[in-house]
Amino acid sequence: MVKVMAVNAGSSSLKFQLFDMPSEKVICNGLVERIGMDMGNFTIKHDGEKKSVEQPFPDHGVAVDALLKALISEGIVKELSEINAVGHRIVQGGAYFADSAIVDDDVEAKVEELCDLAPLHNPAHLIGYRAFKKALPGVEHVFTFDTAFHQTMDEASYMYALPYEYYTKYKVRKYGAHGTSHKYVSEQAIKLLGNPETSKVIVCHLGNGASLTAVKNGKCYDTSMGLTPLAGVMMGTRCGTVDPSIMPYLCEKTGMTPQEMLNVYNKQSGMLGVSGISSDARDIEAAYNEGNERAILTSNLYARTVAKYIGAYFVELGGCDAIAFTAGLGENSSYIRDLCIKECSEALGVKLDAEKNAIRSDQAREISAADSAIKVYVIPTNEEVMIARDTVRLLGL
Ligand code: ADP
Repeated sequence: MVKVMAVNAGSSSLKFQLFDMPSEKVICNGLVERIGMDMGNFTIKHDGEKKSVEQPFPDHGVAVDALLKALISEGIVKELSEINAVGHRIVQGGAYFADSAIVDDDVEAKVEELCDLAPLHNPAHLIGYRAFKKALPGVEHVFTFDTAFHQTMDEASYMYALPYEYYTKYKVRKYGAHGTSHKYVSEQAIKLLGNPETSKVIVCHLGNGASLTAVKNGKCYDTSMGLTPLAGVMMGTRCGTVDPSIMPYLCEKTGMTPQEMLNVYNKQSGMLGVSGISSDARDIEAAYNEGNERAILTSNLYARTVAKYIGAYFVELGGCDAIAFTAGLGENSSYIRDLCIKECSEALGVKLDAEKNAIRSDQAREISAADSAIKVYVIPTNEEVMIARDTVRLLGL
């Protein structure tokens, strides 16, 4: 029996799941929030019980120590040496990593170098990694990259129509994001299709952040996020792809710097910006049901941008066998799924079964109508299990 800790460290949070492998059973999971703030919170779930403590966590090192102590005091492990390996989620792996990697000095240096491309994420991942490395000496670590799955895109999918030297000199190209989720969900969709020899799947990862991926025969063919996770469809607070000239135009009109405007693009746009209500799809849905015009516009704009990518990927893939919805909205928001599919229906012959779409469940399921030209699935994502699987595979555990 092998125990693998899957870690997702953010700038002020640390999520974890301890897996028993190869059974993939979750032994415990939880998170530390508000690291570095006056008061933090630590939650751990084990054997159906949930415990929370409020205390300050000045840095990630303190958070990791508290987590490891809790594993012992809760009787989850007898000794920390029972943890065989730690796998870490890393947002940006650039063009260096087409697969997860066992961490050594070179891998660590590359992730450090890529902080430029993911300034909000990679530094936090490295802090989390170093805290675990210190607390568990001698344990091996694996990095699983959100970008790795997208490395199979060809130049025609990942290049921007900018002067070529920006690509060679500054690495400006599309890297994509949510790759671990897209990989997991597309694999599940292919299984639901009955493991055909060839397959064309479109994955809609619709969470706070949102991206779509065209998957041909299990490999990423195109994806909607770009150099950064700002591109593509509109999201909770991110605008997605907009006319690039809007940036200088608005900077001149508002007196904001490009960096300030970028902050608006990232944090005050998307569902929040258009609706003026909230970034949360649940609030938008409630307002939509009350007939709020801005909520109706927000929902329609969201569905249409998703549908435009589905249409584009249908063309790029030369057809589509299945559309799979995942992440917060994709898994839970039946009205958003309904609006997205309705936008595609006439052109693609895809239709939902209204009753199946309304079912709430945490199981992977089909929601398309019997006469739909394309299968539609809801598939709860599981990035953590992918991290644990890759950790076991690479370390030969
Ligand atoms: P993140 O990108 O932060 O991982 P998630 O995948 O957890 O995001 O998605 C979070 C979003 O999912 C929330 O902001 C909310 O809009 C949406 N969401 C979560 N639960 C529901 C629900 N029951 N109904 C509709 N939308 C939901």
